[in-house]
Amino acid sequence: MNGVGKLYFKYGTMGSAKTALLLTQAYNFEERGMQYLCMKPIIDDRENDNVIRSRIGIERKCSWIYSESDLYEMLKDIFEKTLSVKDWILIDESQFLSAQQVDQLARIVDDYGVNVVCYGLRTDFQSHMFEGSRRLFELADTIEEIKSTCSCGRKTIINARIDSTGNIVTDGNQVEIGGDDKYVSLCRRCWRNRRIESTSRNAIKFDDE
Ligand SMILES: [Zn+2]
Repeated sequence: MNGVGKLYFKYGTMGSAKTALLLTQAYNFEERGMQYLCMKPIIDDRENDNVIRSRIGIERKCSWIYSESDLYEMLKDIFEKTLSVKDWILIDESQFLSAQQVDQLARIVDDYGVNVVCYGLRTDFQSHMFEGSRRLFELADTIEEIKSTCSCGRKTIINARIDSTGNIVTDGNQVEIGGDDKYVSLCRRCWRNRRIESTSRNAIKFDDE
């Protein structure tokens, strides 16, 4: 029950290869014979195979985190019952954790000395912080930005939601599952320009009617 664990938050926009980095880290642990456990909040009920998969084709099994999961109890059980203590916990899509679940992770780090690495988005499609991400910014020992580049060359900041014609969508639910068909990562300036374009395109459409 000693050791110096850390809570990490590694954040980036969509398409910044967060999942690929998580899986690469998992692979490195395997190479070195280290124990780890992958986890992911379940957000899509249709999802039934418990794997974390990246677009480059690698995947690893993961445990689901449900909205009602108590991560402290869940992980405490694993540490006390499993002979091989998992030294590293890797969590994908950690923006979908509740603030309470992040608190539970922090407690696991402090009580058991394990390392918990959370990968996730900083903000939603309206540029506001997700609950899990906000708490991670508040509590993490180490915060690291995974940078990626907008088509204009600047750093991406925003996960913009788009409709089927590529117009920027500004209203809707915070959580809506989708890939390249629904989201585009943009710098703040391109986000603003694309919103202005989308608004004027819509205005023209209405004029025609
Ligand atoms: Zn840009």
